[in-house]
This record gives sequence, structure tokens and C-alpha cells, in this order.
Amino acid sequence: MSSQADELDLEHEQFQPRQLSPVETLRHSTAHLMASAIDQLFPGTKFAIGPHIDNGFYYDMELATPLTEADLPRIEEKMREIAKGNHKFEQFSLSREDAKKWADDNGQPYKAELIDGFTTPTVSFYKHGAFTDMCAGPHVNYSSKLKHFKLTTIAGAYWRGDEKNAMLTRVYGLAFESKEELEAHLKLLEEAARRDHRRLGKELELFSITQEFGGGLVLWLPNGAFIRKQIEDFWREEHLKRGYEILFTPHVAPLSLWDRSGHTGFYKDSMFAPMDVEGQAHQVKPMNCPFHIGCFKNRQRSYRELPVRFAELGTVYRFERSGALHGLMRVRGFTQDDAHIFCTRDQLESEINGCIDFAQVMYSTFGFPEYKVELSVRDSKNKGKYLGTDEQWETAESALVNVLNARGVTFKRMEGEAAFYGPKIDVKVVDAIGRVWQLTTVQVDFNLPERFDLHYIGADNAHHAPYMVHRALLGSIERFFGILIEHYAGDFPLWLAPVQAKILPISEKFLDYAKEVEAALKAKGLRAKLDLSDEKLGYKIRKAELEKVPYALVVGGKEAETQTVGVRKRHQGDLGAMSIDDLAARMLTEVAERSRGV
Ligand SMILES: [Zn+2]
Ligand SMILES: [Zn+2]
Repeated sequence: MSSQADELDLEHEQFQPRQLSPVETLRHSTAHLMASAIDQLFPGTKFAIGPHIDNGFYYDMELATPLTEADLPRIEEKMREIAKGNHKFEQFSLSREDAKKWADDNGQPYKAELIDGFTTPTVSFYKHGAFTDMCAGPHVNYSSKLKHFKLTTIAGAYWRGDEKNAMLTRVYGLAFESKEELEAHLKLLEEAARRDHRRLGKELELFSITQEFGGGLVLWLPNGAFIRKQIEDFWREEHLKRGYEILFTPHVAPLSLWDRSGHTGFYKDSMFAPMDVEGQAHQVKPMNCPFHIGCFKNRQRSYRELPVRFAELGTVYRFERSGALHGLMRVRGFTQDDAHIFCTRDQLESEINGCIDFAQVMYSTFGFPEYKVELSVRDSKNKGKYLGTDEQWETAESALVNVLNARGVTFKRMEGEAAFYGPKIDVKVVDAIGRVWQLTTVQVDFNLPERFDLHYIGADNAHHAPYMVHRALLGSIERFFGILIEHYAGDFPLWLAPVQAKILPISEKFLDYAKEVEAALKAKGLRAKLDLSDEKLGYKIRKAELEKVPYALVVGGKEAETQTVGVRKRHQGDLGAMSIDDLAARMLTEVAERSRGV
């Protein structure tokens, strides 16, 4: 869903009779409290909307002088002062005309515009202390209930989410029912900031995204590119083991292909504008599916060769508004770890089951023991948004449900979250600090095979349409890398680390032996790097630590004499002297095991 639609929903919600949970009520009431404080400190502020959100609230407003984060403590202090006044939140209603007059008299043009959109004869207001706000409620009874809050950030937001409108100031805050919950959340935010993949991406030289080279377009720097290569090598190896065949397909296709697949009809908002190629419109690909269909269609297929499993690390391009872009997590060009399985109706459930098995191998390899499953079905009240018949949707849905039930997996049913061509299973993993990330999707599709006139020759010698399963295990490699950086806090396990060991000679005198160590480790296939700087040992150790190199190997006179190295392991400290062979054996075992607890 676009951010614009989110905002319109919130705006709609705040002025309709609604049910809020106690904590949502508390959060929304804190938005009113903040508005009252800002109204006192910055008279003349024009308020727009102030809904509750996860963990807190925000309020959008227009101020005569721009607000900065340095103003937040002062606003917070004023909020506490007003809260302590123990004002009652009082509801009253005005006719539409009187409400409009209220907005005009109080210099509140955004409220006036909202009133113009209302169809009800009366408009609801809430007042606490000297502050009145137009609102359907509900609120806490008294302002003294609002205790555990903190203002966090200021951002820009277009009125009604439309960039043609005025840019308003959005102030975000947190609010919880207890001090402990607020403190725990602040700690989580601090930990998340320490792990922020954008900061670590810069510090560890993993990737770069700049306006100069295009918003949402990723440059993979050598360190990040190396980790990606490791992930991709592993991914390919595992696919070949499981009977997949690897494909490469183009990045552009005639627009007519996307008409046929239904993408121009159902997916247009996420696609870049077409380009002209000798008078024929071409489209940069938002998905890989039609190409894999093309590979299946390349020749006649027999039931004997089904299932056919095609996999590709396929780079796609999707239009995202610049405001929605976020580091590696939301980009405009990304590589899906995509696959399409063509099978018979009878094979459908075992193929879906195989995808879930495969996904679990990925989670355990990358250290995500916990995950959550969702079943996304179509919005039964809005069938026009989807292709296919009721019977097709029911068949596909029952195949997905049967697999989940047979595995004993508990799942959440998500109405209206299906793809336009079929229902799907989505799996989200839980990271090292408890955040949830969507990775895997397994989708059943009966539409594209029909649209592209796919068939195989059955045992009866007749033509049959195959079922198609779309699946991605990691989602997009870019986003998955962003998640991994934060999950590991940049401390990549040994099999992924671009440099596995740094050799630190105590002084220049031991350079020859240090080079011997480097050559010996490299000969075993390990990634060793010699620190040639003439800095002191302490500095070299600290630098290796900042670079998050898993092993630091100290080399001096004693080590040269005994043909050993002084081993320091990240997070474990000094492991003492080891022979080069022992160290190499230890590292190779660690590489082979791949996974690591975080
Ligand atoms: Zn309210
Ligand atoms: Zn697909």
C-alpha cells in the first residue's frame, strides 16, 4: 500500500465514530496534548491531523517559524505541565455551519477543509483545558492519565499525502501505558540505531545510494558485493541440489508482453513509464514471471518432465515515490531470488511444501530461528481487482491451507492481501532484536498459464494447463542484505565476512613471517589480509575491531620462533597462541557450519 493511501485512511478514521483500544486511545490523546502544548508555545499554529500509530502518535501542522528537534524538550515540558493540570477531555458537537465558523474564527484552514468533506449534520469536538480540537474521539478521561510519552522526530508530510499540497510539519512521539514499556522501547530504538544498515553500510563500505547515481538505486561496493556473491553462490548451490534449473532473462520487454500478463492492467502504479524502441513501446521489467513462462513455452512439454522448477536472481525495477525510499529496505531496482514452478494439480501441494522446507533452510542458515506465517487471500468484496474464477481461487487457497495444516503451522489469514493472480503464503522472520521482516512469498497462479496459453501433453495425450507457483525465499537480495546487516549488527559470520583474518605484525621486523602466515592461510582458501601500516599494535587491533574482522592475528618474535600466531576473536577476546594449521582447521570448520547464533 502506498504511503498516500495510508494517510488518507488515517485522516478518514480520525473523524468517523471508531473503536480504539485503550493504548490507542492513550496515544491519540497524547497527540491532542502535544497540540495543546504547541498551541501555547507557538500561537497561530494551524493543525491538520493527529492520529495514533504503532508505539505512539504524530500530528501534522503548519507553523509560522519552522520547528527543529531542539524545540522538542521544551514542548515535552509544556505537555507535562498541561497534563498535570488534570483537565477533563470533554466532548461536544456543533452543526456543520458552526463548526466551519469555529475553524474560521480560530484560523484553522485544514480543519475547515476537512469539515467541507463531511456529510454528517454535526461535527464532534473535544476540549481539554484551553485547547479545543475537532475529533470523533475516543480519549482518556483526564489529561493526568498521560504520563509515559516522549517526542522523537520531526519530518515533512504533504497535506493529504499529495505532493501538490502544502508541506506540513509532522511531529512524532511515543506513548505507552507504563514507564517500563516506554523505556524498553527507547532501548530498542537505541539498539536499532546502532544496527542501522545505512550507517553500517557507510562505515564498513558495503554499499552506496546517492542522488547523483539515482535515488533507490544501489551501488554494491567491494565488501558488500563480496557478501552478496557468497549469498548468491550458496543460493545457487541449494537450488541445484533441489532440482531447480537456473535462468537468465532480459531486463526489458515489449509492453505487449505486460499487457498479456495483466501487469499493465493490475500493476501499472508500480511500473516505470514505458520507453520507445523503434516505434514499439517497451517496458523495463517489474517482475520476472513472463520470461520464465517464455522459457517453459520454448518447446513442447510432457507430463513426465513436470514439475519444472526455474530459478533466477532476477533484477526488477519498480516505481517508488522518493519519500517512500529507505536505504536498502525500499529501493527502485532490486534482485528477487525468484523461482517459478510449473506442475500438475496433483503436484501442487508437494511443491508448495518443498518451498516452505527450502525457506526454513534459508532461515536457519542465516540465523533466524523464529518466523510467522500469513495466508493472503483476495478481498471477497472487491473481486474486480483480481483475475480468475471463484473455483480457481478456492482450489489454490485450499492447496495452500492444506500444506500449512499438514505441517501444523499456525497462520494468520489476511483478507485482501493476495496478488492479483492468486492467493499466497507470506513468511516473516524475527531478527536479533525482535523486529519482524517479511522474506518469503509462495503464490499459486492459475491465471498466467491461461493468459499465455501454456500447456503440457498429459498421459492421455491431451493438452493440459499447468499450475504455476511463484516463489521468493529471501525476497529481494538488496532488502535481505539490509536486514542481515541489522540482524548481525555488521558482524558477519565467517563464511560471509569479506576479510576473515587480519594479520597484525608487532613491528616491521616481523613482516616476513607475517607474509608467510598470510600466504599459508590464503593457500587454504581463507581470506587473510596483512596490516602493512606502521601504527602501534593497539591501534591496529582497534582498527580490525572497527572493521569487524572476525579474527585478528598478532605476529611478533615469539610467534615467528614457534611458528604460531596470537589469535584474537571478535567478541571472544584473546584465544592464545595457535599453530597456523590449527587456526586454519578451526576457521574452515566455522566456514563450513555457516550459521551462527546472533
Ligand atoms: Zn482526538
Ligand atoms: Zn512470478
